[in-house]
Amino acid sequence: MADRPLALVGGTIYVTPDADPIRDGIVFIKDGRVAAASGATVPPDTEVLSCAGCTILAGFCNNHVHFFERKWSNAAAIPAAELMLQLQEFCTRFGFTTVFDLSSPWANTRVMRERIESGEVPGPRIRSTGQGLIANGALPPDAVTNLMGVMRYPIATVGNATEVGAAAKRLVHEGVDGVKLFLKSFPVAGIAAAVAEARRAAKPVFVHPNDGADVLTALKAGVDVIAHTTPHSGPWDDALLAAIKRAALTPTITLWKSYQRHDRASAQEAIVATAVGQLKSWIDAGGTVLFGTDLGAVDPDPTEEYELMAAAGMTFRDILRSLTTAPGERFGRPVGRITAGLDADIAVVNGDPAKDVRALADVRYTLRGGKVIYRAAEP
Ligand SMILES: [Zn+2]
Repeated sequence: MADRPLALVGGTIYVTPDADPIRDGIVFIKDGRVAAASGATVPPDTEVLSCAGCTILAGFCNNHVHFFERKWSNAAAIPAAELMLQLQEFCTRFGFTTVFDLSSPWANTRVMRERIESGEVPGPRIRSTGQGLIANGALPPDAVTNLMGVMRYPIATVGNATEVGAAAKRLVHEGVDGVKLFLKSFPVAGIAAAVAEARRAAKPVFVHPNDGADVLTALKAGVDVIAHTTPHSGPWDDALLAAIKRAALTPTITLWKSYQRHDRASAQEAIVATAVGQLKSWIDAGGTVLFGTDLGAVDPDPTEEYELMAAAGMTFRDILRSLTTAPGERFGRPVGRITAGLDADIAVVNGDPAKDVRALADVRYTLRGGKVIYRAAEP
């Protein structure tokens, strides 16, 4: 039986990050898709969600997450209600309707994705690189991964460009949506080998850099996404910034703040200021920004990341672009807009994020494919 049509009534609608907002408008949703976004009247037999005092935005995408924490292990056996709650705590309660997982055990993440896509468990669209490629001898010690809460699973490492190419090819064959490389001790020729394999399948390549030199090497090899800023090696220089071309960046600034939390406030501030400066220099050089926090390694609340992006000079509309249309364009999917015919993936936030970007994290409803997958408790 088809669901009744749904109308989001009374909010301020941004159909794209660039359009003038529609005040006191209506988003009309039918069969999981946006039917209209305007001041149209509500047809009879329509379920109405009041959005008075809210802002209605396209659903958000976090482009750097990990399903590697122990709570996701044995995904087939997690009770549906518990899995839904975990997914709400992880991302949907903050308006995220799509996440890009940049390394986790693929067989397990795929099971979770299938349980969501079958309709059994309400959750986000999951894209994944599967297990990221790690060089021989570069696996972090168990003591570190245990502290990070990472589940135990076997990881094969790579030693040279041939092995990297073969591993990337195997992952693509297994259905991943991208390829992730951890650059610690990574064979340099392997980066180009991974890029060539991924390009053949029209998949993006993401890299975890350890310093500015890694970022420059990755940019020269033609990778698509730099998955971190690198504040511990100082500001990014002109040679790096000149090599950006089409590449995108997930800033992950709060990650550095969280890693520095045992240090003096002045040391924390210095690292955060360098990361913010790197993001600013990236934008000034024309680089694309995709929202990304390294979720799984950091607290799920994105409020502080929004504030730090604003500190780098990004406006509300710039940040909204990094959450919606920029990933949609980068990964070739028609998402990130509230447009007739598109899937109704929507975040309804309290207040006006154009006045205060922190409102982006104060979510009242999250809809995916026209279904409410998160609803804030009544105040
Ligand atoms: Zn990560």
